[in-house]
Amino acid sequence: ATELFYDSDADLALIQGRKVAVIGFGSQGHAHSLSLRDSGVDVRVGLAEGSKSREKAEAQGLRVVTPAQAAEEADVIMILVPDHIQRTVYAEAIEPNLKDGDALFFAHGFNIRFGYIKPPANVDVAMVAPKGPGHLVRREYSEGRGVPVLVAVEQDATGKAWDLALSYAKGIGGLRAGGIKTTFTEECETDLFGEQAVLCGGMSHLVQAGFETLVEAGYQPEIAYFECLHELKLLVDLMYEGGIAKMRWSISDTAEFGDYVSGPRVVDDHVKANLKQILAEIQDGSFAKKFIDDQDSGGQEFKQYRSNHESHQIEATGKELRGLMAWVKSHDDDYVEGTAA
Ligand code: NDP
Ligand code: MG
Ligand code: MG
Repeated sequence: ATELFYDSDADLALIQGRKVAVIGFGSQGHAHSLSLRDSGVDVRVGLAEGSKSREKAEAQGLRVVTPAQAAEEADVIMILVPDHIQRTVYAEAIEPNLKDGDALFFAHGFNIRFGYIKPPANVDVAMVAPKGPGHLVRREYSEGRGVPVLVAVEQDATGKAWDLALSYAKGIGGLRAGGIKTTFTEECETDLFGEQAVLCGGMSHLVQAGFETLVEAGYQPEIAYFECLHELKLLVDLMYEGGIAKMRWSISDTAEFGDYVSGPRVVDDHVKANLKQILAEIQDGSFAKKFIDDQDSGGQEFKQYRSNHESHQIEATGKELRGLMAWVKSHDDDYVEGTAA
């Protein structure tokens, strides 16, 4: 059975009694460091000299030092740099500064699950993984609420790793919403599967294929964009509020009947077999290896995919149409269209 934990199950004093290093000040890093600080925790942020994030962290009144100094000072080290960079930062700045009884924390199981980071036996290894982007994690904390968190212990050197992880989760507001106990393996494999098969990979490619089908049949791209991409948000919002059932309750009977008869033809047994194969390649580490090997050789394959997809017709069509819809605004100040590559 699923085990849930709330504020009353955790002792904030445990994390308040430690020195915490948050390595990285991106999406998760800013949320964790600011909310821990506001929860009365002694936090320092670890960033390389010349890091673009330094100014942002300092402007928030945080103390910024190098990753090595942060790891040296601290006895709880949360690693919040991108997953493919973690093993380098760990090897160069963290591992040489680990002491008996220190705790190494993660917000995603990737590097531990696939063996890119192998911590020594004398430190605790735990995970506090918010189930939402960092900006939401911080906003909810500031408003007295929280985003649910997954909590896991991989290695319990001190015998107190679980209580410490719960205390950290409370410090970022996660236990106001609820903490779910999991393992590094379960979190990592399900997270990768969800993003590849459904949330990112499956969804984006289904939208593109639907758009292409209409355009190739001679319909106007603008109309295809509305039908295959723009309206997705309305339906996802309904699913988010009340499950697939609420979405089906809200749509027309024509749309609902079409859902039942055509959906299984889109997602047929062949698609299910592909999903199982994708899961198998996550579980056996071959996806992780493919990603890391490409990153290690400069990310050529990654960059090629990115630029191919950015030049898909659906992006140009969407750019033009969004200009007509005053209410469709970007909520991410850092994002500039067409510059990701
Ligand atoms: P980001 O990409 O936002 O992290 C960027 C930060 O890392 C910046 O401060 C950047 O500094 C710093 N950084 C990059 N390279 C280095 C380096 N070599 N040395 C030191 N600092 C460096 O990461 P996320 O917050 O997206 O992800 C962090 C972890 O959280 C990952 O494990 C991820 O899987 C997990 N996670 C992320 C979620 C999310 O919503 N994004 C949700 C749940 C978990 P600079 O300014 O110099 O570039
Ligand atoms: Mg993920
Ligand atoms: Mg319609």
